[in-house]
Amino acid sequence: MRLQSYLAGRWQSGTGAGRPLVNATTGVEIARADVTGLDIRGALDHAREKGGAALRAMTFAQRGALLKAVADALQARRDEYGAIARENSGNTAADASVDIDGGIFTLKTYARLGQLLGDTTRILEPGQEQLARDPVFFARHVWATRPGVSVQINAFNFPSWGMWEKVAQATLAGVPSLAKPAVATALLSEAMVRDVVAARVVPDGVLSLVCGSGEGLVEALGPMDSVAFTGSSATAMVLRIQVAGMAAAPRLTVEADSVNATILGPDVKPGQAVFDLALREAVKALSVKAGQLCTNIRRILVPAEIEQEFTGALAAMVSALRVGDPADESTRVGPLINVAQREEALRNIDRLSAETKVVAQAVLPDVAESSGFVAPTLLRCAEPASGSAVHELEVFGPCATVLAYRDLTEAIVLATKAEGSLALSLFSEDAGVQARAVAELGPWHGRLMLVDGEVGKAHTGHAIVMPQCVHGGPGRAGGGEELGGLRGLRFHMQRSAVQGGPRMLATIAEHAAEQAL
Ligand code: NAP
Repeated sequence: MRLQSYLAGRWQSGTGAGRPLVNATTGVEIARADVTGLDIRGALDHAREKGGAALRAMTFAQRGALLKAVADALQARRDEYGAIARENSGNTAADASVDIDGGIFTLKTYARLGQLLGDTTRILEPGQEQLARDPVFFARHVWATRPGVSVQINAFNFPSWGMWEKVAQATLAGVPSLAKPAVATALLSEAMVRDVVAARVVPDGVLSLVCGSGEGLVEALGPMDSVAFTGSSATAMVLRIQVAGMAAAPRLTVEADSVNATILGPDVKPGQAVFDLALREAVKALSVKAGQLCTNIRRILVPAEIEQEFTGALAAMVSALRVGDPADESTRVGPLINVAQREEALRNIDRLSAETKVVAQAVLPDVAESSGFVAPTLLRCAEPASGSAVHELEVFGPCATVLAYRDLTEAIVLATKAEGSLALSLFSEDAGVQARAVAELGPWHGRLMLVDGEVGKAHTGHAIVMPQCVHGGPGRAGGGEELGGLRGLRFHMQRSAVQGGPRMLATIAEHAAEQAL
């Protein structure tokens, strides 16, 4: 099977040999993807001219309705996607749901935001500034859609959610999307876009898809275009350098990897509900999507005086994790997506061995040599304050490390050693501990999840990105910001100060939604 790209309103195949996609459980090749010889520049022009014009002619409410129609088209074919995610990504049914239902939910959330903004096409910030002594000259800030194209380069671990969360924001803002999923897991992205195209719910040029290499994409961009990248810090660096050298200066936002932490508060004792809640969340880090989540807990910070109890309980849970065929309903942990990812994860676990010891490992059943399976592995770092690899290395698989801390000050210092992360969770009943964590760790994180006994199991999870909340993180995590409800539109719109008389500004305010972004 050869994956195709959807460019300039047509499904097209590259002429090269292409790169393989495999069955994660068996390692057997299932498809190839290639874009050799395809006219990417022409596709970008088509998206800008046809798709951009179509979207800009629609109001926010109409774009919201379009997103709802996309979500409905995907929902109608939902059952077929689970099998693809199982085959190509090694997802269990629960893993697949995070990616597939997460994508559909995000589309529906942005569809509702479109209804909120109503039949308008611009966003007007509340309030105006008087700029002259007499009340005849004022300024207001207006957000207008940039007439460009949004190039969206995605990581392999979310072929559905990663694509749709970017498409949702760009479409609502009025900007056409050219999505480029990672080749290794593009089977699901291709199937979903095929279904949306077949449902005829999206105007020509609004949605394009590249199944193949993304090289050359960025250099074809102009001043109104943008790149939203999700992936490794290494690729992010290549793109940053590329964009920095371009006179056209397209916008770039980066969601990169991070070594996220969870903290069990210094106030917590075994037997308390938060203790068990933290255990439950920690074991998810070694099981859900086989640990292949960018927001995943990689470091588990535990008070030294209860570390033994906590690590002992967690070790028992990790050892009991059932690893195996994702098609089997009793399987909790499936394979990584391919051998290359397995080898990378094992290499990084090995690199951590200078600073850590293995405290528990789940049993790996007999698996194909060319499969992606990695045994869930719990590590312990005895000297976290002097460790460096444990704070720097992201094992992109089912592995996390327990680090004991003496007091909250040390826990905060350890958490920041990752130099900026996507998400941090804190399990604590103490309001003072919570307040300090927010004040001192907020600047280092894009999202903080605070859990006490009252929140209980109602929380959405450390690793789960909610479209209503900011996704992204400072420093090492890339410095980008996506989602966060309407704020996600900022990236695709231009903020201008409009200066003029009161009547002029009143006219400008027509067809604009007053909204703080
Ligand atoms: P990756 O190797 O950096 O690849 C990411 C994407 O960039 C792929 O689509 C890749 O295409 C493309 N790419 C590579 N070189 C390119 C170039 N020169 N020009 C244009 N595109 C290029 O990352 P990955 O292995 O797919 O993903 C795993 C990493 O992503 C992990 O480190 C994880 O933490 C991170 N991640 C972060 C987030 C977040 O939201 N912060 C979410 C998910 C994952 P090909 O597939 O064709 O190589």
